[in-house]
Amino acid sequence: MTDRLKCIGCGAILQSEDANAAGYVPQSSLHKEDVICKRCFRLKHYNEVQDVGMDSDDFLTLLNGLSDKQGIVVNLVDVFDFEGSFIHAIKRIVGNKKIILAANKIDLLPKQINKRRVTEWLRRSAKEYGLYPEDVVLLSATKGYGIEDLMQAIEKYRAAQDVYIVGTTNVGKSTLVNRLIEESVGEKDVITTSKVPGTTLDMIDIPLDEQSYMYDTPGVIQAHQMTHYVTTKELNTIMPKKEIKQRVFQLNEQQTLFFGGLARIDYISGGKRPLICYFSNELHIHRTKLEKADQLWQEQIGGLLAPPSRPEHFDFERLKRVELQTQSGKQDVMISGLGFITIAEGAEVVVTVPENVDVTLRPSIM
Ligand code: GDP
Repeated sequence: MTDRLKCIGCGAILQSEDANAAGYVPQSSLHKEDVICKRCFRLKHYNEVQDVGMDSDDFLTLLNGLSDKQGIVVNLVDVFDFEGSFIHAIKRIVGNKKIILAANKIDLLPKQINKRRVTEWLRRSAKEYGLYPEDVVLLSATKGYGIEDLMQAIEKYRAAQDVYIVGTTNVGKSTLVNRLIEESVGEKDVITTSKVPGTTLDMIDIPLDEQSYMYDTPGVIQAHQMTHYVTTKELNTIMPKKEIKQRVFQLNEQQTLFFGGLARIDYISGGKRPLICYFSNELHIHRTKLEKADQLWQEQIGGLLAPPSRPEHFDFERLKRVELQTQSGKQDVMISGLGFITIAEGAEVVVTVPENVDVTLRPSIM
């Protein structure tokens, strides 16, 4: 009877005859509920299970560890900060593996979003990096939304192989992995860690079936694009915590909106119209006349126009002006790491941001 019990950590059949073979547990533990084998026990208790951050060298080592493995990749990104959370070297990790793009924190976007358009935009953006995901899944790891869809997609594409979850730090990988464990095993603590061969990096394994595992790879650290200009505390006000409320500004031509003191959009021409802003609810948006905008920015940065509250590192010499013309229906002007503005077609705008911040247009997801 007992020989059919499996370790809930690694799936090996439990036995108490051979201490050096897989699935060994002392006889005394064999009849307990939720037994893990000695190896898993040791990994769990003597190797700290932590999500270690990695710099890019470590990451390259990990890449080499993964590239010759079989399996599929789940790439987790932050739907509110795609550019900032996307691993640019992902194509190399993935190689010929199938990939599922999982966009987390969907709960931050207003409920009225058009999910199909969000998915299309993510697919198009991935393609720009040479990535062709089998599936794109919208998720909220904290709210539990989309978890079932992700599990189904994984089962559909993994073909009995291992699954590697990759993502930058802060995209919500730990939260997701805990969810997946709860949903799939109904247990909170069944993970063990293992090393990526040839490296000192730990990965966390979750058993999927008798031969396959899901590996939670360590998060790749990627500095937020606004890190250079704001404090960690201010970064928290820029990054939304709750569902974003739209803020509508009826603008006349030649008016400007400031997003804190970090970015601005000048509305040049296109008649009186609404600019619908989607930014962290805590970020102050200030409207002014275009003719006053330059001077106001210089004088009020750190004051009326904050964050940054301490603008020593905000270099007015290193700003970028991006001229845009909205087309075909509505478009979203995206300011990477900050938010987006929905504008109907036929508007001419200029966005000014620090030079390393990306500004792009997409067909509106609203
Ligand atoms: P990791 O660094 O990728 O492991 O990320 P964590 O799981 O530690 O999450 C980073 C931050 O994002 C935490 O503050 C989480 O509460 C938050 N977070 C994770 N998932 C979600 C989500 O689905 N929605 C929202 N709004 N926040 C999330």
